[in-house]
Amino acid sequence: MITRYSEAKLPTPNGEFRLVVYRTGEEAGVAGSAVGTGPEEHVAMVLGDVTGPAILTRVHSSCFTGEVLGSQRCDCRAQLDAALERIGQEGRGVLVYLVQEGRGIGLGNKIRAYQLQDAGADTVDANLALGFDADLRSYDLAAGILRDLGVTSVRLMTNNPQKIAGLERAGVVVDTQESHWVDATEHSESYLATKKSKLGHIA
Ligand SMILES: [Zn+2]
Repeated sequence: MITRYSEAKLPTPNGEFRLVVYRTGEEAGVAGSAVGTGPEEHVAMVLGDVTGPAILTRVHSSCFTGEVLGSQRCDCRAQLDAALERIGQEGRGVLVYLVQEGRGIGLGNKIRAYQLQDAGADTVDANLALGFDADLRSYDLAAGILRDLGVTSVRLMTNNPQKIAGLERAGVVVDTQESHWVDATEHSESYLATKKSKLGHIA
């Protein structure tokens, strides 16, 4: 379903990672990512020897608005930075980075959901449009990548119980959950509160 395509060293402020690119053999499609419509590609940022159990791991979906443009409507960039920093401190770990905008609904639909929120729409409905429903395919892809890297169990950096359940259903052994809250900005406060109250994220 997903195969290793290429890899190279990637020096970063958090250490010299290995960037491994995977391909699914499918076209990404217009909703697949913010940045292209070529073959669907996902990546793993690997630091140190990650074969074996209890590997510090983050499974992260790309966010063009947050990570590239600096949007403060969400905490994606801060979560990404925090995960890479923590892996760097430990000297060992994996960040699986799924290249899919708005959890697979595409950039246009994600901004449409923001537009609904700006117009005062019910945040739950807008969040549903943002693709908060469990994305089974993403978990399968992440599980395939972790298997390929030789990771046999993970310490997962997340606050999202649905992500743990989804990964476990996809065959990933989750040893422990590592709490992964980052500070809210004034713009992301209500978004984070919704994550806690409506979507079961735990502190
Ligand atoms: Zn985001």
